[in-house]
Amino acid sequence: MKAMLQSGPGLPLELHMLDDPIPGPGSVRIKVNACGICRTDLHVVDGELPNVKYPIIPGHEVIGRIEVAGPGVTEFKPGDRVGVPWLGYTCGECDYCKSQQENLCDRPLFTGYTRDGGYATHAIADARFCFPLPGAGDDAETAPLLCAGLIGWRSYRMAGEGRSLGLYGFGAAAHILAQVAAWQGRRVYAFTRAGDTAAQSLAKSLGAVWAGGSEEEPPERLDAAIIFAPVGALVPLALKAVKKGGRVVCGGIHMSDIPSFPYRDLWEERQIVSVANLTREDAREFLAIAPQAGIKTTVKRYPLAQANAALADLRRGRIQGAAVLIP
Ligand SMILES: [Zn+2]
Ligand SMILES: [Zn+2]
Repeated sequence: MKAMLQSGPGLPLELHMLDDPIPGPGSVRIKVNACGICRTDLHVVDGELPNVKYPIIPGHEVIGRIEVAGPGVTEFKPGDRVGVPWLGYTCGECDYCKSQQENLCDRPLFTGYTRDGGYATHAIADARFCFPLPGAGDDAETAPLLCAGLIGWRSYRMAGEGRSLGLYGFGAAAHILAQVAAWQGRRVYAFTRAGDTAAQSLAKSLGAVWAGGSEEEPPERLDAAIIFAPVGALVPLALKAVKKGGRVVCGGIHMSDIPSFPYRDLWEERQIVSVANLTREDAREFLAIAPQAGIKTTVKRYPLAQANAALADLRRGRIQGAAVLIP
């Protein structure tokens, strides 16, 4: 049986049977073994992002095996294990594509947003945007690396080389980056929803030197902070927590409005930056570093048909680490 889950804006996902998808030139058909759930999927399902192609099959942390390689595909053959990330296509011709900034391409397609993704038994992907995963790792535990890991890595690099790093919102991305930071000898400060002791203990078990509520002041001023929670009110809070010259990186695609704050909180060369998407270079870098850093993801598995329940759990902050759908 082939099946997929489709959403319209603000509607629960519905299960549909899938015709045998035939990969066109340059594309591959993948038998999906696991698809991670990202917070962005909630924004897609909730209709919070512009230009979504509804009905859409969400999901951009896809791990599977090539079933059929379309005409012209030379880099993969049936049986190869691959990962499909958020960046699903770039034009290759715009100024951004030509200057190593394909994450900002003017005519991109994003998996599970503007092209169908991995909440399905099978998926079609552009072979140039699939990554070989030759290792024999667990598919569900690998899935969160494909977005939480990759876009998390881009945010992490954007945060600079400072030794003290704050992570606001300790979900899928932060639980991966905390391990990278601890491996590199940095001091990680984890900020969670007030009273979320489960997330705080997970953070400490992964190497954070301190964990507390987002409103709390960390015991030292931070070199940088990354905000993964979609909460604009965290921006002024994080600005207060960073030292002179410190940087606040907004790592998500969507955030509630940022409340106004006094200019003096930004002054002294503090910066606020956002991160958009990923480049294939980010992915190659991170997928090489992940095994060296010994990253272990904490996952909660749901059958594909339970995707709505999984999204509801993510919305309510009931997931430690990352949720993953298993078809
Ligand atoms: Zn994502
Ligand atoms: Zn482009």
